[in-house]
Amino acid sequence: MTGTKPRKATKPSSLGEKIRRQIVANGPISVADYMNQCLADPNFGYYMTKDPFGESGDFITAPEVSQMFGELIGGWCVETWRRLSKPSPFNLVEMGPGRGTLMSDLLRIAALEPTFFAGTTLHLVETSPHLRAHQQKTLKGVPVDIHWHDTLKTVPDAPTILIANELLDALPIRQFVFQDNQWHERVVGLDEKDRLAFGLGAGTLEPGTVPDAMSGFAEGSILETSPAVTAMVETVSQKLLKHCGAALLIDYGYTQHAPGDTLQAVKAHKPTGLLDDPGNADLTAHVNFDAVMRAAKGAGAVCHGPLDQGPFLLKLGLLERAGHLGSGKDHETQEQIRTDVERLAAPEQMGTLFKVVALSSDGLKLPGFED
Ligand code: SAH
Repeated sequence: MTGTKPRKATKPSSLGEKIRRQIVANGPISVADYMNQCLADPNFGYYMTKDPFGESGDFITAPEVSQMFGELIGGWCVETWRRLSKPSPFNLVEMGPGRGTLMSDLLRIAALEPTFFAGTTLHLVETSPHLRAHQQKTLKGVPVDIHWHDTLKTVPDAPTILIANELLDALPIRQFVFQDNQWHERVVGLDEKDRLAFGLGAGTLEPGTVPDAMSGFAEGSILETSPAVTAMVETVSQKLLKHCGAALLIDYGYTQHAPGDTLQAVKAHKPTGLLDDPGNADLTAHVNFDAVMRAAKGAGAVCHGPLDQGPFLLKLGLLERAGHLGSGKDHETQEQIRTDVERLAAPEQMGTLFKVVALSSDGLKLPGFED
């Protein structure tokens, strides 16, 4: 022992620095690990520290576009509960409630059916303390008990109606690059100037991940998988099957697994570099609904859809709701409602890119999914 004091490790001042140190110490990290840290690091993670929604934030989600979205989902929940033979008590669960806007609009409609309301216990699954506080504020005064959870696993078993809008796109994905006749896991390391940079790691795709019909990949093709989405959908399905129930999952994504890089970073409503500002930009990936359905079926749930969001909302009565809302209002308000309808349902806006899948414990017909 000499007289020198042990050097105290300084705390990293940003997520970029924290990740850089990790890479120096342990080598490159997977894209999934990078995405997870960017979104969920307890000190610097995007959702942990910010309110990303709305015109002043980084992006806007359907419930933030218009109250009609949450109201129609509210109608869906009440009708689904009826078709499940009105279980009481039952759990109404939302995963990733953001600002709590969807739930607030949903409950306003649900309150019109007193027996639905009377049997409801509300469970919100939210990993971000920051957004939880926001949800508490939005939902202050609603006449139901609200229970917050970090994970669905701690929600007590009971008949369940579950909704999740734009949750799955925030779960980490892995990426693989096709090179020299093999899939290599894409990783984040450092370049010669110590900047974050993509590279190829030692990991490869597990056999059976790529559907047999897919072959003849071009050099440099990128394929994505999401063990986190699969695990989440399995847990949801298992929850529904314990008693009875249904889940509605809405997100942007695709139904045919194909090569393609869908990872994107968005800041202040504009695309930005994936590695430019870790923790300060939203990172999302398109959801592979093929994989969602496979995971749900594998766990024993019945799948409905996927449908495009536009036709789904129209089936639930979007135009009627818009007419009602606009009736007797001034021209400007009516124009705003018309713009909101287009934003939610028009094919070139959210209507086609966003998909809706429902899962249920048995084969009953669910609202919006009838032929
Ligand atoms: N549903 C809201 C918010 C979507 S953003 C809306 O439509 O406006 C994603 C939400 O999921 C945020 O609230 C985020 O904090 C939460 N989230 C992210 N990962 C999660 C996880 N693993 N479990 C539960 N919530 C999660």
